[in-house]
Amino acid sequence: MFRRAVRVLLTLVMIGSAALAGTVVTAGTAHADGCYTWNRTLSQGSSGEDVRQLQIRVAGYPGYGAVLAIDGEYGPATAAAVTRFQQAYGLGADGVAGDQTFNKIYALQDNDCTPIHFTYGEMNRCNTSWSGGAVSASQARANALVGMWKLEALRHALGDRPLTTSSGFRSYACNNAAGGSATSRHLYGDGIDLTGTPTFCQIVRQARYHGFREILGPGYSGHDDHAHLAHRSSRFWSAPSCGI
Ligand SMILES: [Zn+2]
Repeated sequence: MFRRAVRVLLTLVMIGSAALAGTVVTAGTAHADGCYTWNRTLSQGSSGEDVRQLQIRVAGYPGYGAVLAIDGEYGPATAAAVTRFQQAYGLGADGVAGDQTFNKIYALQDNDCTPIHFTYGEMNRCNTSWSGGAVSASQARANALVGMWKLEALRHALGDRPLTTSSGFRSYACNNAAGGSATSRHLYGDGIDLTGTPTFCQIVRQARYHGFREILGPGYSGHDDHAHLAHRSSRFWSAPSCGI
């Protein structure tokens, strides 16, 4: 995000210099972002890597109980997620991803593509390699990135209150040491434990709207002292003390 501001400033200086020198300046760098820059407006029917990158950023807006596919195909579900993202940030909500939407994403992301309120470091307190889990290191890291964008949406929906993570990716060794289940989603990089505030019940209730198929909280065995959010193939929500 910061580097983008510097680049814009540099661009303006360069435009000024070029104008003085009487040379032609082509536009296009004004939106350069340190992580990823979109170069076209995206809407239903679009496909490609730029759509996939967009889907990662709006993965936290699939609607209640749903999960957005990160497949590079801009279908109705992606349009609906973009609309919810736009509504959440007070943008014109048309389900089309153009400059307004991309600029909001640029403002929300760091140069390593994580959302500004979360880091790869806090998503992996086990090792620095992301290896030793149930999937490849690159897959675990990619899963964690999507999880962080879901957390960013959850955080915003809960009133922009800070969320405190206590565990993310775990290798089998780290998972055994933590007493995690042998099939724990922490082994895949998308399991996230939250402590602190808001209350665990507030977190797990709201998480149902933000793309988490696995939600465990108070009343579920071993989850009275944290909220656990993750991805999985089919829905498994249990937090009996919260009415879930
Ligand atoms: Zn957990």
